[in-house]
Amino acid sequence: MGKLFVISAPSGTGKTSLIKSVLEDPVSSNTKLGISCTTREKRPKEENGISYFFISKREFEEKVNNNNFLEYAEVFGNFYGTPKDWVLSILSKDENVILELDTQGALQVKKAFPDTKTIFIIPPSYEDLSKRLKLRAQDSNEEIQRRLKEARKEINIGKDFDQIIVNNNFDDALDDLKKFMFSDESLSEKRSEANKNSLNLLLD
Ligand code: 5GP
Repeated sequence: MGKLFVISAPSGTGKTSLIKSVLEDPVSSNTKLGISCTTREKRPKEENGISYFFISKREFEEKVNNNNFLEYAEVFGNFYGTPKDWVLSILSKDENVILELDTQGALQVKKAFPDTKTIFIIPPSYEDLSKRLKLRAQDSNEEIQRRLKEARKEINIGKDFDQIIVNNNFDDALDDLKKFMFSDESLSEKRSEANKNSLNLLLD
């Protein structure tokens, strides 16, 4: 069986870029990223079947009733679900799977498969997160405030994940991620401390 990883992070933390870099690295040659189904509207640069499978609410409900999802959740008013058969077929071929889920989804997967490695990426501070969300220029001010509020909730759940990684410096965060996922080495003391201290700052 391959390994199952679930990576969560508050929106704007750089999770997607980190995962992209992990997948481009030869260390992850045996690893695939899950593609979820969602009822949210497709964004301009997204493609059906690559970013997500964009489906209607009715199709989503049908999949829920047919038990097609490993987990599903409502995030920011839209539904997201992980196709179960796909994940199980990849794992049974001894390949690893990365799922990029919200914290509710991560907990559901961990409950169903306790061997799942859960990873939570955190921003160095709420100020930094707010800056990144604004720079991304993807959301309205109101939406940014909503995402920041949601971030606090997510951090309260994500604090108990198997590995916390602060994305202050991208390369450090990427190193931590690759080390945790693909090597038996533990993170350096310096990085473990940095991750712990950043989390404590966000929890205060
Ligand atoms: P976005 O709409 O910005 O792509 O994603 C919003 C949130 O939904 C992100 O936190 C993302 O990780 C999460 N998400 C994406 N796919 C799934 C899924 O299949 N299940 C769950 N629970 N969350 C998902």
